Amino acid sequence: MSLVVDPAEAAAVAVSSVGAAPESEAVAWRHRHLLDVDRLSGAELELVMRTTDAMREVLARPIAKVPTLRGRQVTILFYEASTRTRVSFEVAAKNLSADVVNIAAASSSVSKGESLVDTVRTVEALGAQLLVMRHSVSGAPYLAAEVFGGSVLNGGDGWHAHPTQALLDLYTIRERLGGESQAARSRAGATTEGLLAGRKIVILGDLLHSRVARSNIWTLTASGADLWLCGPPTLLRGFEAWASRSSVAGRRFQVTTSVDEALRDADVVMALRIQRERMAEGLLPSLREYAARYGLTRERLALARPGALVMHPGPMNEGVEIAPDVAAGVQSVITDQVTNGVAVRMAVLYLLAGTQVPA
Ligand code: ASP
Ligand code: ASP
Repeated sequence: MSLVVDPAEAAAVAVSSVGAAPESEAVAWRHRHLLDVDRLSGAELELVMRTTDAMREVLARPIAKVPTLRGRQVTILFYEASTRTRVSFEVAAKNLSADVVNIAAASSSVSKGESLVDTVRTVEALGAQLLVMRHSVSGAPYLAAEVFGGSVLNGGDGWHAHPTQALLDLYTIRERLGGESQAARSRAGATTEGLLAGRKIVILGDLLHSRVARSNIWTLTASGADLWLCGPPTLLRGFEAWASRSSVAGRRFQVTTSVDEALRDADVVMALRIQRERMAEGLLPSLREYAARYGLTRERLALARPGALVMHPGPMNEGVEIAPDVAAGVQSVITDQVTNGVAVRMAVLYLLAGTQVPA
């Protein structure tokens, strides 16, 4: 069974009676796995956004639960510490009435590729149909997808990708730039691309170690944003080359070490955590110096447009990459990101489940 629906139908099947009726063309969800967002077209991103709208409506109900994935098993296999992403997937799967199995594996037990493959085969033999996986090694979910019979969702792999984070970030930006009202968002022309085109979005901080940034580059350039990456030179390594290759493919973004240039007139500023656990010696002189030169403070934020959105994927080092008063300030949408994470993950689980033959 493949899911061939227009977004409104997707929403209706998922949550019955939620009736946004976009006039856009029918879009098919054709991906069995969600390993990254690099292959998602603008229309597919829109489908995820609209399906998320429907899931948001479910979450607003007194009993935020629908039977969509009843009888399906979602296994959450995390080889790296996580609270928010793991819990968010778990809540999302439970809201869809799936059976959830949680496995926290120690990375050491899978230092060999074979053991990862064995684990994936074992969880499949135990009934897993949708496998949400996080691993410290980039590419590990791709290996899992080669052997797993169901769908693999990448919950973050090494420095490489964090697709659901990029989707929830996109959803949060779209919602805030489009205004709060559902009706306004669904109006013809209020596509994500229409809302983001030409908006200046800055990703600031530890780009080097950031799978969040690498996934966001795809979704934000696909949506036509004027994307800027900013950080100290040691944490921007490789992005200049990527930027010049990407501009050839029409996916433009700018790279700068100047925080003033990046922040000036920005519509959205996304600060990234300094990933101390992945930091090789010598990339930064000190956290104090980093905070002084690149931290998102109130003074720096004043360079951006009035009301510019402040984002952070969490967990935050307050006082390092972001000042506490900015993180908690009126421009911050950081808690919206967390809330939207559940709705986006419900949408993605739903779309992937539709590509499987029900057992
Ligand atoms: N690694 C962080 C946590 O566990 C953030 C995340 O997983 O999204 O909370
Ligand atoms: N939570 C995000 C991640 O898991 C960002 C971070 O850990 O800083 O990649």
